[in-house]
Amino acid sequence: MIYLYYSDQFLNYNFGPEHPLNPIRLSLSYKLIEELGLLDEKTELLRPNPAGEEDLRLVHTLEYIEAVREEELDLAYGLGSDDTPVFPGIFDASCSMAGGSIEAAKKMLEEDCIAVNLAGGLHHAFPTQAAGFCVFNDPALAICILRTKFSRILYIDIDAHHGDGVQQIFYQDPNVLTFSIHESGNYLFPGTGFVDEAGSGVGLGYSVNVPMPMNAGDQDFLLAFEEVVPRLFEWFEPEVVVAELGTDTHYSDPLTSLNVTLRGYTTMVRRIVELTNLYAKGRLLALGGGGYNLAVVPTAWTCALTIMRGDPLPEYLPPYWVELFSNVVGYVPLSYPDLDVEPGKETQKRISAELAETLENLSRVHSKIHLELF
Ligand SMILES: [Zn+2]
Repeated sequence: MIYLYYSDQFLNYNFGPEHPLNPIRLSLSYKLIEELGLLDEKTELLRPNPAGEEDLRLVHTLEYIEAVREEELDLAYGLGSDDTPVFPGIFDASCSMAGGSIEAAKKMLEEDCIAVNLAGGLHHAFPTQAAGFCVFNDPALAICILRTKFSRILYIDIDAHHGDGVQQIFYQDPNVLTFSIHESGNYLFPGTGFVDEAGSGVGLGYSVNVPMPMNAGDQDFLLAFEEVVPRLFEWFEPEVVVAELGTDTHYSDPLTSLNVTLRGYTTMVRRIVELTNLYAKGRLLALGGGGYNLAVVPTAWTCALTIMRGDPLPEYLPPYWVELFSNVVGYVPLSYPDLDVEPGKETQKRISAELAETLENLSRVHSKIHLELF
């Protein structure tokens, strides 16, 4: 069974008209899912309640929670920056987003299922600080809830940005293995996620990072993914998987410099689902994340949901939805299967060389810690 968590309250998480995180990507995604007839006996829609203070305290300090509640403009808490400005109602809106992931995780304590919160995936938030459009770290909150039942949790983050908040929160925890594949911190926010960030203390070896070269595309991502992720499943034997499925690796994304197409993105999602079925009884908590080209996000996330359902990818988008999208956004949405993106020969040579070096370094760092991993 798949449970999809959605609430119109998610749309209140709105940093203003100039900000790249436009909440209509959530309503357009939901509308497309509905129009494609995906809310049926396989996928149940649930309306989550906002997160309560007790749940937020699993990750965040009381001082920080109070600062968000009071709408304090204080950069010490990361509140009021250009990336994460304060807006009226920021606390309630942030609690709604986090509530989706928290309730999804709680559902997974009751039954083996897939739970989806497309508004979630706010992976940059820290226990005492907002960062990179993220106020409360819902992936980490969900992981804390899953930890009450499961002892091995694999977090897989395919967003274009490093999942720094989640990594830091579980950096010393051998029960939560965090994996992030992202555009290298040499080129992109938050500037972390290098291979030598491998965890510390008893958590050493339980943080795995693959920083990707600028302009890397489908073949590079799939090569790196296949080199690392199946080994992590085999070695760690997760009981449950939490996936951050940001779509900002897409070649058209305005905030990043990668060349992943819808085909590459959906292949990674399909592999996550397959490996989760193989190793973790299909227990998957799927979260949204980044994605700043409105034409891409609803199509990509709807494709992700159809893969989780075991359905073929939609060959066309419903005309009613395309018209709605065009009226609201002002241009046309992307449909599957997307374009082919071919980098120039020299560019590909540079990407392949940089990636080969990264994978070699990764294997060197981790094989020293866990002989059997690489
Ligand atoms: Zn991102």
